[in-house]
Amino acid sequence: MNDCVFCRIVAGQIPATRVCEDTHALAFMDIGQVNPGHVLVAVKAHADNLYALNDEQAAAVARISLRVARAIRTAFSPEGLSVYQANGRPAGQTVLHYHVHLLPRHAGDGMELTWPVKNPPRDQLEAYASKIRSVLG
Ligand code: AMP
Ligand code: ZN
Repeated sequence: MNDCVFCRIVAGQIPATRVCEDTHALAFMDIGQVNPGHVLVAVKAHADNLYALNDEQAAAVARISLRVARAIRTAFSPEGLSVYQANGRPAGQTVLHYHVHLLPRHAGDGMELTWPVKNPPRDQLEAYASKIRSVLG
């Protein structure tokens, strides 16, 4: 775990520009700054991804994210804000320690996410939902 870059940031072992924190979550500036004001909110205890969180950690990240999102809106007046969170390399996760991006957005800023929609018929949606519900119980 010592070679996890976000664990090292949480521990203060490498530099980071901290924004705010509570017991379970830390907000700090993304080093890449896709747009000015780009913040990451990470869980403090190492968790690879969303699946590894407990309810308390998830709630802490959500609370800090909402608070910081509103502060970004006031401080930077972006036209929009993307909340982005990747789990697994195929989803685009590059740092395997759970975190949420708060990314201020502007028209024509070059940030792209394509949605190759399939628009299946309703019975297909029902079949997909049924699979999920059967796991939920
Ligand atoms: P993701 O691709 O969702 O895993 O995002 C990882 C993010 O971590 C990228 O946007 C990087 O710019 C950011 N990042 C990587 N190393 C650091 C660091 N030392 N301090 C701040 N942000 C970092
Ligand atoms: Zn970690």
